[in-house]
Amino acid sequence: MIYLDHAATTPVPRAVADAMYAVLAEQFGNPSAQYPLGLEMKHQVSAWRRTVAQAAGCGEKELFFTSCGTEGDNWAIQAALWQNRRLGRHIVTTAVEHSAVLECCRWMERQGCEVTYLQPDGRGNITAAQVLDVVRPDTAVVSVMMVNNELGNIYPIADIARGLAQRNPRTLLHTDAVQGFLKVPFAFRTLGADFVTLSAHKIGGPKGIGALCIGPRVRSPRPLLPGGGQEQGLRSGTEATAQIAGFARAVELRTADLPAVLERMAALRAYAAEQLSAIPDVQILGGGAPHILALSLAGWPSQNIVNDLGGQGICISAGSACHQGRPSHVVAALKLPKRVSGGTIRLSFGPETTRADIDACAEALRRHHDTRMPML
Ligand code: PLP
Repeated sequence: MIYLDHAATTPVPRAVADAMYAVLAEQFGNPSAQYPLGLEMKHQVSAWRRTVAQAAGCGEKELFFTSCGTEGDNWAIQAALWQNRRLGRHIVTTAVEHSAVLECCRWMERQGCEVTYLQPDGRGNITAAQVLDVVRPDTAVVSVMMVNNELGNIYPIADIARGLAQRNPRTLLHTDAVQGFLKVPFAFRTLGADFVTLSAHKIGGPKGIGALCIGPRVRSPRPLLPGGGQEQGLRSGTEATAQIAGFARAVELRTADLPAVLERMAALRAYAAEQLSAIPDVQILGGGAPHILALSLAGWPSQNIVNDLGGQGICISAGSACHQGRPSHVVAALKLPKRVSGGTIRLSFGPETTRADIDACAEALRRHHDTRMPML
């Protein structure tokens, strides 16, 4: 199998699975228990938190484990609206966010909030000026993703943060960094965002664990889950110790030689863009992050391409895996001609992807172009 869908999820390395198994089978104590098995686990969770926090460039007390990126996104937006409830109920976001942000915003609209959805240009870019232009005195929160999951575009979070400090210092800034974490270097303490969402399964960790970094401007944040008091009383529920262990081990593995890995991924992406551009009717879309390459085989419906390549053991995506076959709102926002948008596919890479994987994919795509009827 050739796996080129690392933006959807990543394989879990053996070392990560082993770390999780050890917790499940042997170190299974509840971190709140007062005997050695529990106390040891409490100590371990702190160490794992330190590992993830260091990689995100935040303090240990600023990192809260969640069940996934979706949870972090929802929590951040709702916590920001809560803090600024006397300021106003205006939200600024983009039309190309992940559904975890978009659907949360739509839900908040139904609760009486007003949402401005910024449109990208034809290449998927959003500028800081565009964001700052629509910020108002009653803007409670701005939520702009760090890296677009379908196109790979990188958005200017630090510039937005700097501009917000001038324009409306009380507006809180959230960034969904699920696709940016350990792909596009950043440190929470210098980024300027008040909330940063992370998820483990995009970096070789298990599914079902993420984190939300919450900065010092967020005063007494609204608890997401009141209960037993875990995660500083803000997100109760017995810690998912095996998932947390896996998250931390994945972070350790990825950070070991991160600059070299990112350089290799960027070179691979450039190589893939070059090889695939040589196929007639291919058009490269957007881009920026080292692990995502979006392109269109203009005229050939993307679902047919995905099915054809899938049958040959090559896993690629027709956009975000979260859309389950529905047309992608991200590609729609680019306002491309129908034959281009309808042929959009995404290749995404991991540290183990090779040039041979790209060559096999390029060959299969060329064969698809040459042997299948265009339908768009
Ligand atoms: N945000 C982005 C940009 C993503 O790509 C994803 C997953 O695809 C998510 C949020 C949701 O993360 P999770 O699957 O951990 O809920």
